[in-house]
Amino acid sequence: MSQCRIFLSSPHMGGTEMKYVQEAFDTNWIAPLGENVDIFEDQVKEFTGANAACALASGTGGIHLALDLLEVGRGDIVLCSSLTFVASANPVLYHDATPVFIDSEMDSWNMCPKALEKALKYYKMQGKQPKAIIVVNLYGQSARMDEISEICRRYGVPIIEDAAESLGAVYKGRMSGTFGKFGIFSFNGNKIITTSGGGMIISNDEMLIEKALKKATQSKEVAAHYQHESVGYNYRLSNVCAGIGRGQMEVLEARIQQKRDIFDKYVEGLEDVEGIEFMPEIEGSYHTRWLSTMLIDSKKLGITVNELIEYLDEHNIESRPVWKPLHMQPLFEGTTYFSNEEDNSKYLFEHGICLPSDTKMTEEEIEKVIQLCRDRLLTHELFA
Ligand SMILES: *Cc1c(COP(=O)(O)O)cnc(C)c1O
Repeated sequence: MSQCRIFLSSPHMGGTEMKYVQEAFDTNWIAPLGENVDIFEDQVKEFTGANAACALASGTGGIHLALDLLEVGRGDIVLCSSLTFVASANPVLYHDATPVFIDSEMDSWNMCPKALEKALKYYKMQGKQPKAIIVVNLYGQSARMDEISEICRRYGVPIIEDAAESLGAVYKGRMSGTFGKFGIFSFNGNKIITTSGGGMIISNDEMLIEKALKKATQSKEVAAHYQHESVGYNYRLSNVCAGIGRGQMEVLEARIQQKRDIFDKYVEGLEDVEGIEFMPEIEGSYHTRWLSTMLIDSKKLGITVNELIEYLDEHNIESRPVWKPLHMQPLFEGTTYFSNEEDNSKYLFEHGICLPSDTKMTEEEIEKVIQLCRDRLLTHELFA
């Protein structure tokens, strides 16, 4: 076992997935759609409390559809968290719209309400109205959705909640993904549950999800001869993959508990190390700890994030830096960015590390990661 690589977050089947996939084969409902898709959607609706859901081939496709339904077009401004995976903002470019990035707050690592308001005020003075805002819930924790919703309501900007990393997180009694006009989930291989690849778009507005479903199936009108009146996409999830999702939904709560337990072990094993700081869980928030993340004070500890990552890698352990902010990515060079006095997202990138958070890790493996981190962080002079 000790020779096996320890992963950041890899697929973890619950056991019933094959049964539902087999059902799809037995009934020949390989395609199109079928019972697994319907049930998977119902499970997500029931779990989140959303009124409507549409299963998709990816989370990225969900953001694309949401922007489309909000009629985002050429030159429109779309505000987006800077500290995130590129998939949050790529769909803005599909629409030839202009992304504008917003800094994080240090408390939640998510979009800073103050920086957001600064941006909205700025555009109001310019007589411009941003068409949408994409708020990302990072690493299993919701952004401050009460404040952000209130600000967006005042300025009349609809919210797309990129909850790809936060299925199961709760904020002030509400499930992550249900605050925006649209919520998006991802079931990519590294997420808390997976369909091998897939996503979902949810909303409390059933009409909007009906429209999303139509757009995701080539905008086919009701007619035997394939009538089309608007542009559409081929974005639906296959019934085979939905079978995996159906089984995964049965273990979602167990996975969240396991992720939180892993995080607690890291805290217990490392909290006495001066110069590290774990990602906070803000008040009123239930963090799934999809990834256990912490900051390293390089000055105090005399070691950089990349040195720790390399050291763990030498021991066949996968870890990663925190997302490189999109305003720092060459793809978005020249894009407007609303920062705090200190550029928080840049700081989080330069000091943050995502520790292995794989729910298949044994107790011994977690212990091993902790011990190696301690060795490298506390005795850095030996490695100089
Ligand atoms: C994974 C992820 C996505 C994209 O989801 P896919 O299903 O891979 O298309 C979008 N946003 C964030 C923040 C993600 O982590």
